[in-house]
Amino acid sequence: MSIKQLACLGGKPLFEKSVPVGQLYFPDWDKFRNSMDGIFERQFYTNQGPLTQEFEKRISDFLGVKHAICVTNATIGLMMSAEALQLKGKVIVPSFTFIATILSLKRCNLKPVFCDVDYFTHHITPTTLERTMQKDVSAVLGVNLWGSTADVEAVEEWASRHGIICYWDSSQTFGCSLGNNKIGNFGSLEVFSFHATKVLSSMEGGCITTNDDKIAARLRNIRSSYGAGYPVEVVKTSNGRMSEFQAAVGLLSLENFYKYQKNNELVRETYTKELQKIKGVTLENIHGANFSNHQSIVVRINPEFFGASRNVLMKALHCENVLARRYFHPGNHHLSQFDHDVQIQLNNTDRLIDEILVLPSGQPTSIQDIEKICSLISEIKNNIKAVSKLVTY
Ligand SMILES: *Cc1c(COP(=O)(O)O)cnc(C)c1O
Repeated sequence: MSIKQLACLGGKPLFEKSVPVGQLYFPDWDKFRNSMDGIFERQFYTNQGPLTQEFEKRISDFLGVKHAICVTNATIGLMMSAEALQLKGKVIVPSFTFIATILSLKRCNLKPVFCDVDYFTHHITPTTLERTMQKDVSAVLGVNLWGSTADVEAVEEWASRHGIICYWDSSQTFGCSLGNNKIGNFGSLEVFSFHATKVLSSMEGGCITTNDDKIAARLRNIRSSYGAGYPVEVVKTSNGRMSEFQAAVGLLSLENFYKYQKNNELVRETYTKELQKIKGVTLENIHGANFSNHQSIVVRINPEFFGASRNVLMKALHCENVLARRYFHPGNHHLSQFDHDVQIQLNNTDRLIDEILVLPSGQPTSIQDIEKICSLISEIKNNIKAVSKLVTY
């Protein structure tokens, strides 16, 4: 592909419409309308209706897990989880995560203790946990990112050795496998997000999975102040209910999961091939999971070889309407709202926050788009001196 003048140097943006990083797979319109017709005919719109019940059954079959409790989003799912697990005091959590993970603890009056991650895998390990462990810690809330996973079994072994609970924010890893088990079967429970940007989408939505009957019963009662099923004693109830509309979209998305996953594999293969030619931009491998949903395409920028920082590349791509994103910038542990929480030095997290960039994938990005994006990165590198002068971020 021949590249015209780069947009940051005065040319026209290569993409007329913005190219986002989210997965954004949506169902076929006719199937969607069919589902909506059914809901309007039944006039059952929410509160554990037939589609929500079916979605829960399908998820638990798909993951091979005993209980799937659908909720309106993962953020409330995480808050309900902290309540259901009856946590106290401090909870260890990686700073390298979406802020909702940490805020779920704060909202339940728990004190987050920020933990570093491994520089290569981006995940917590027994080593980073050991450095973080202190008095009054009742649990570790692990996070599985990008379609990769932590060494979940090693982390759980560490937690059980210290007599504390382990549970997972697996928002980004629906459908991934670890050994013979699907993610969703680990820890005391796991939380998934079905937000529109995730591989499995109900547009807004989420799910908590567990093999523990007691925890599941508590979650079902926390989910709705109306109560549901056999009432068990819980302190605070809420409204985390999934609507029939969300469940309808979720069911269609689950039907297509392997189609989306296959497309994501092709996306990764294309990036792998194209980025090999560009020194200083490395595509991060999948870690942990032996089967991945390929939620995110994560690259690491080495300024020594690329010629400029990650921020310069990101800004130059933004000028072309390629909405590559840095995560989880500027680092939750640097936010003033967490000033009163327990802080330790997080060297690997600080480096990752500066070095990584997530590139577009999912439904809005065609294979041809990916080739264009990679040619752009190459062209930005070829003009890096001029680009660096014009672009500051
Ligand atoms: C998306 C995401 C969430 C939040 O999910 P919502 O459904 O939008 O509330 C939480 N944690 C992680 C790691 C996520 O990626």
